Amino acid sequence: MAVYHDEVEIEDFEYDEDTEMYYYPCPCGDRFAISKEDLENGEDVATCPSCSLLVRVIYDKDEFMKGEAVPEPVSGKTELLKC
Ligand SMILES: [Zn+2]
Repeated sequence: MAVYHDEVEIEDFEYDEDTEMYYYPCPCGDRFAISKEDLENGEDVATCPSCSLLVRVIYDKDEFMKGEAVPEPVSGKTELLKC
């Protein structure tokens, strides 16, 4: 099991539209990062590239996945593959 440094609400992250990444300052001086795509996929762990700390992102998964025609991310997602 991963040990989280903290739990941070998504509103407290800084969103970079160019990279579609959310950032939050890490105590080591770098930033935790998680992509919008990860959030849409139900990921809630932001990692810091410079140290081993993790933060859990608190957000409303339904809101992020809204509008996406993704059925259940559990098993078959073959129809989403590119032709
Ligand atoms: Zn760090």
